[in-house]
Amino acid sequence: MKRIAVLTSGGDSPGMNAAIRAVVRKGHHHGLEVWGVRRGYTGLIQGDMIEMSLGSVGDIIHRGGTILHSARSEEFKTAQGQEQAVANLKQKGIDGLVVIGGDGSFRGAQKLTERGFPTVGVPGTIDNDIPGTDFTIGFDTAVNTVIDCIDKIRDTATSHERTYIVEVMGRDAGDIAIWAGLADGAESILIPEAPYQLDQIVERLSRGSKRGKKHSIIIVAEGVGSAVEIGRQIKEKTGSETRVTVLGHIQRGGSPTAHDRVLASRMGAEAVDLLLQGKSDYMVAIQANQITGLPFEEAFAMKHQPDMSIYHLAEILAI
Ligand code: ADP
Repeated sequence: MKRIAVLTSGGDSPGMNAAIRAVVRKGHHHGLEVWGVRRGYTGLIQGDMIEMSLGSVGDIIHRGGTILHSARSEEFKTAQGQEQAVANLKQKGIDGLVVIGGDGSFRGAQKLTERGFPTVGVPGTIDNDIPGTDFTIGFDTAVNTVIDCIDKIRDTATSHERTYIVEVMGRDAGDIAIWAGLADGAESILIPEAPYQLDQIVERLSRGSKRGKKHSIIIVAEGVGSAVEIGRQIKEKTGSETRVTVLGHIQRGGSPTAHDRVLASRMGAEAVDLLLQGKSDYMVAIQANQITGLPFEEAFAMKHQPDMSIYHLAEILAI
């Protein structure tokens, strides 16, 4: 293996730049030429690639987003698009590819391996929803962004003695809600993995208010349903004011935390090692703080589960 390429695809996440830097620098460390593909699979189909020098990834470890840009490509889902992508890689003399992205991007990476092109995935998504790895790059930063926002909301919640409902990202996975919920002492955490009972939420609110609590925070993962509607239902049951904040894309930006920078650096470097070991159809993972690799097939045979012990602890501590 002499020349490898790296791309970022799907939803961006803080730490992707640190991962790109690690792929480039670890590649150079092993004497490889490293190329960067712009705008994910879209750029792969268009042959939009540049050689990346050691200096090209300087001053990016602390930046959110991705210097290679990201995209979603419908064309790449077609056989024709995939053939074109492999042809472009071969034409440039590239022997292996690192795909930094989420679940969808990994499905795309698998298509390349099916066509015989060695590909390794690095999990980059704020949702932490990829099976086989304890953490994904960007999750820690997103949780920190959420708790920073909730700390501010808490100030005004206390002043006005209100219940605040905060909607966080997570269509299918409640990880952000659970971690932010424990870290911020939320009264209730609503996640797609556990059905909620409105009566229980109301009961917790009234228990808190009897104890003299001045405010309440309820965190809702977006996959549960509309936070506005949940707020309306709570107001109807309790008769007291609720306010709803939808945090949205603010959660995807910002400078990565130390945890995400270290994770991204370790994972990016491991992806290069896996390619050099002749591994393909693999993803990098962190399991019990050990960086490792596992076949996509093995990961996709599992279903991602958030750490429910954190959810239950948050419930106990917020009593
Ligand atoms: P993420 O990687 O963040 O989950 P998406 O689900 O949007 O983001 O996937 C990113 C891109 O990966 C898609 O736009 C598409 O080009 C490619 N992709 C997703 N699923 C497949 C698939 N089943 N086959 C081929 N390519 C796919």
